[in-house]
Amino acid sequence: MEGPTKRFGNKPQIAFFDFACCEGCQLSVLQLEERLLDILELVDVVTWREAMSEYSNDYDIAFCEGSITREQDIERVREIREQAAILVTLGSCASGGCHNDLKNQWEMDEMLALVYGDQAEHFDTIPSRPITAVVEVDYKIYGCPVSLAEFVTVVKRILTGQSYEPPNQPVCVECKLNDHLCVLEKGEVCLGPVTRGGCDAICTGFGDACQGCRGLMDAANVGAMLKALTREQAHAIVRKVVERYGFTQDDIETKLRIYNNWPELNLEEIAANDD
Ligand code: SF4
Ligand code: SF4
Ligand code: SF4
Repeated sequence: MEGPTKRFGNKPQIAFFDFACCEGCQLSVLQLEERLLDILELVDVVTWREAMSEYSNDYDIAFCEGSITREQDIERVREIREQAAILVTLGSCASGGCHNDLKNQWEMDEMLALVYGDQAEHFDTIPSRPITAVVEVDYKIYGCPVSLAEFVTVVKRILTGQSYEPPNQPVCVECKLNDHLCVLEKGEVCLGPVTRGGCDAICTGFGDACQGCRGLMDAANVGAMLKALTREQAHAIVRKVVERYGFTQDDIETKLRIYNNWPELNLEEIAANDD
């Protein structure tokens, strides 16, 4: 499938920008090392605060990391959108929501006071949201941090004028294809059944539960997962596991909230609708 129309020459100018985040996705890209050198033969990087001192507002492709958490962020990302022929969201903070959105459970004044104490009046904040909620984007890369293999794939697609659809199968699929032991059997709440795959189930490969860092996949059936893990249901093995470890809706909600607070997660409503 053809991607967004290219408006740049043979060697496009690339810029990296960060909004509210840990900047771990940019750091991951730097870890591409030799492969980064290959990419640099095809593009000119003109702005990348984490990696270089030079700066230019003349760029074709913008990689934007982080969440929008202040009014001035909205203005800034709109300016980037206006300049860039291609805008790519880098990581879950920018693509779908992430830790930053946890603050949306509180009133903003309360949050400012908690963080800045008696200096709160000098700062402003708005409910956190991904960049995708503010401007149209051409490519999305999920993950906290991004998968480097996926980053390279997206760069290739952009440079060859092709579109890219983020994976939309649950992590469980990749977990089973890799023959990983299901961590539910160890009594750990795993969000693999509802989380967007594309990471090759790296966490369950190390025996850890999926924390949901790539966000909910499209049309994730959270209600069915709640039912399967917290209530009487048909699958005898899972029922035995649930009886033994006693997962609660609160356990699952606490975990889901880490990466899925945009738009607001309402587990009460989801559970009620699934009765
Ligand atoms: S997605 Fe995760 S690793 Fe990437 S910038 Fe946001 S918090 Fe950091
Ligand atoms: S460990 Fe998690 S991702 Fe893997 S099969 Fe079990 S629930 Fe799914
Ligand atoms: S297994 Fe889950 S938490 Fe781990 S990288 Fe994949 S989506 Fe993120």
